[in-house]
Amino acid sequence: GIPPVDGLFGAGGGVAGALVVLRSPSEPFSSDDVELLGQLGPIVGSALSAAEEHRSAVTDAERDGLTTLLNRRRLDQDLSKVTGAPVAFAMIDVDHFKRFNDVHGHQGGDDALRTVAAVLAETVRSTDVVYRYGGEEFSVLLRDTTTHEAHDVLERVREAIESTEIFAEDGRSLGQVTISVGVVATATDREPSSSLPDRADKALYDAKAGGRNRVVVGT
Ligand code: GH3
Ligand code: MG
Ligand code: MG
Repeated sequence: GIPPVDGLFGAGGGVAGALVVLRSPSEPFSSDDVELLGQLGPIVGSALSAAEEHRSAVTDAERDGLTTLLNRRRLDQDLSKVTGAPVAFAMIDVDHFKRFNDVHGHQGGDDALRTVAAVLAETVRSTDVVYRYGGEEFSVLLRDTTTHEAHDVLERVREAIESTEIFAEDGRSLGQVTISVGVVATATDREPSSSLPDRADKALYDAKAGGRNRVVVGT
């Protein structure tokens, strides 16, 4: 009884969605209605395509080009949305990376950063989020995690990095790098999560001063 109206509409050739319009059988669509709806299709279609393009542009703006990890901008956004406690946060810095660049060149340094990023991403738990903070610094946001638990996760990460061989794109081995890590957590809901990076930075400084290639839990 209900006459169907073709609802597939494309924008730029592709199918962006389906528009289904129903009407009571006692009041069927007139040919004018059908014509009008036919004109609506391409308009809604291009709006949907534009929305999808916007979404992927936002995703690119939140990712780092070299490592494809989430970037600092996204970290700041995620930190501002963190609720509840405990929430742990780690600041990670590659040790003596200037020297690595001097020995292996900037391209070799980039290979090392990509390797560190990949090991980080696969070694943390599925609920932990890894970011490239900037340069040779990375961060991990560990929701619903105490400093004790976060220390164990980051110690695993530190060992994994230390034992991972880095390769240049031509297959040459570039050896290994090590990382220093500062870990902190908010213990109560009242502590602002926005202060986590600065606090983790202080613990990271202690890890460097203590001899590097170590995880230090800060206050
Ligand atoms: P420390 O153990 O105290 O952290 O020493 P470091 O040499 O790692 O620290 P420093 O801050 O002196 O040097 C960081 C180096 O990281 C310098 C910079 O050229 C390099 N770096 C930062 N971003 C990139 C990048 O995207 N690619 C490459 N190849 N190198 C980078
Ligand atoms: Mg640094
Ligand atoms: Mg460094």
